[in-house]
Amino acid sequence: MINFELDQEQQLIRDTVVSFARDEIRPHAREADEKGLIPSALIQKGWELGLVQSIIPEEFGGFGNGHSAISGAVVAEELAYGDLSIAMHLLAPRLVTVPVLEFGSDALKRSVLPRFCGDRFEPASAAVMEPRMDFDALTPTTSLKRDGDDYTLNGEKCLVPLGNEARQFLVIAGLSNGTGASHPQAVLIDRETPGLTIGDRERNMGLKALATTRLVFDGCKVPREQLLGGGDGAIARLANLWRVAQSAMAVGVARAAFDYARDYAKDRRAFGQVIAQKQAIAFMLADMAMEVDAMRLLTWEAAWKLDRNEDATREAHLAKRYAAEMALKITDNALQVLGGHGYIRDHLVELFLRNARSFAMLEGFAIA
Ligand SMILES: Cc1cc2nc3c(=O)[nH]c(=O)nc-3n(C[C@H](O)[C@H](O)[C@H](O)COP(=O)(O)OP(=O)(O)OC[C@H]3O[C@@H](n4cnc5c(N)ncnc54)[C@H](O)[C@@H]3O)c2cc1C
Repeated sequence: MINFELDQEQQLIRDTVVSFARDEIRPHAREADEKGLIPSALIQKGWELGLVQSIIPEEFGGFGNGHSAISGAVVAEELAYGDLSIAMHLLAPRLVTVPVLEFGSDALKRSVLPRFCGDRFEPASAAVMEPRMDFDALTPTTSLKRDGDDYTLNGEKCLVPLGNEARQFLVIAGLSNGTGASHPQAVLIDRETPGLTIGDRERNMGLKALATTRLVFDGCKVPREQLLGGGDGAIARLANLWRVAQSAMAVGVARAAFDYARDYAKDRRAFGQVIAQKQAIAFMLADMAMEVDAMRLLTWEAAWKLDRNEDATREAHLAKRYAAEMALKITDNALQVLGGHGYIRDHLVELFLRNARSFAMLEGFAIA
């Protein structure tokens, strides 16, 4: 009944992404973080892996059969093992393609999906979070109101990845039902839409290589064809897909920190012995290894339920909360294993720790 074995296709994708993360992403992680810039050649190489095109069916220009949360989790973990900012940049187009695949009308699929099947990286993103302390993805204050046959969008979003270059945004807004109440609705808008203002790049503690911005919608006209379907359950499902994708990325970051610390501990000598042989360090490394596997199991369980089209709200929340906490604990412990060397920028563990901090506060950041 339970099987943790990846199928042949999933193994092939994982092997490809593992090599790409090791040989292409990781060597760029430090410089991209310092410069706040990911080389466009690297993004293009990542695009050529087909991670976005491979979930789009042939009839819309791709070469896939739809997406799977499990396959997405495998890809997200491995990319984030290389570097979290670069992983999020490469997967950002899925913030549009997955919702359109799941909840777009046939006409919307035909107009949107082929542009993600070209030879060049197609920047796209989602605007979910709002700059307010009581933000909840299911009760956005960004509002969508009926305006004749179409709609008008007003509000503000923050931490929008690729806000500086995305050509299309999936926006989660509250659709007013005319009685004062509203329900969450996903809508697609183009970058050139009159009334949309893109803010300056945000200055974040981590994820420094990933450009995030605010978006302000001031009376943006939205044709009704740009609304996604799926009813009330659509946003809940998308939110669960996002939580699972983030959990998988947290596993990748935590595993990267654990591997780094373990290798360092086996090499670093203090008081005549490698520190990996001191119990204080050995116990810490054992706990880290255990938690990485536990994080992955929770993530895969939620993904498995999503792939069966079951309600995975509980599982996705548990996975996300646990992964966010453990990613922070594991990266902090990794830094501790390196002692004073962990605190300086010669080693990647301080970068892993800064990036891991993002999981505790990001919501709806990445779909895999
Ligand atoms: C911001 C900063 C400023 C500093 N300023 C100064 C300064 O002004 N002057 C100065 O002299 N030094 C300074 N240091 C260095 C600091 O004193 C050392 O970082 C510290 O002594 C740890 O040594 P280490 O970094 O070589 O780690 P290591 O000795 O390599 O230790 C690595 C890890 O192994 C653990 N460990 C080591 N030995 C054992 C053991 N026997 N049993 C169990 N666990 C063990 C450690 O607890 C640590 O977690 C500074 C460090 C930092 C981060």
